[in-house]
Amino acid sequence: MIEKSAHSLLSIEKWLDALLPSRCAACDTVSNLQLICSLCESTISLANSGQSIEINSVFSYSGAIKKMIIEAKFCRNEKKAHALISYWSKQSSQENLLERLENKIFNAVCFVPIHWRRRLWRGFDLSALFANAVSHKLNLPLVDLLISNRLDKPLTLAHSKTEREHMTKDRYVMRKSLASPLSILLVDDVTTTGATLRAASQVLQKNEHKVCALTLAKTPARP
Ligand SMILES: [Zn+2]
Repeated sequence: MIEKSAHSLLSIEKWLDALLPSRCAACDTVSNLQLICSLCESTISLANSGQSIEINSVFSYSGAIKKMIIEAKFCRNEKKAHALISYWSKQSSQENLLERLENKIFNAVCFVPIHWRRRLWRGFDLSALFANAVSHKLNLPLVDLLISNRLDKPLTLAHSKTEREHMTKDRYVMRKSLASPLSILLVDDVTTTGATLRAASQVLQKNEHKVCALTLAKTPARP
């Protein structure tokens, strides 16, 4: 009975999808049943693999990816956040995600949280949404281990590396300690200098956990 009603709900969804024109998740123009239109897709590039071995990033923070992240985070558009993560999920299989992570073995996925007041204002945490999708893709538990203690301006607005390092000092603390150390895949939305990820991973490492980081996007290096 439950299966039957779930099935009919699915068909209603399909029927509605067919009826309504689908719109590009990045520019909102009608796109031919594509999540992201071909014009926007042509602006998406993958992140250059790393200056830093422990930080792995999927997309370059540019083009349609940058546009969607800005709209999600700074215009509080949760729908854009979900569309962006669906796009990543469609592009990324478990195999190529593991390949990107050099087939390391993890016990859990954790995320770099935003301050609770920022989360309240925004209504969601993009890193947590991305971490949830990653944990599903890798069949790993999602652990909520960190608390963000500081509510500064967004780190992307820091004028220098020094200011950024200063802003990340003591930013994170452990929410709880675990009985045994884990090998953690630490997830964040965007990385620029890696200062945020370093600050968060230091807290985890102090608690004996092993950490490797994954971000949805990485700011391209300035030429
Ligand atoms: Zn578009």
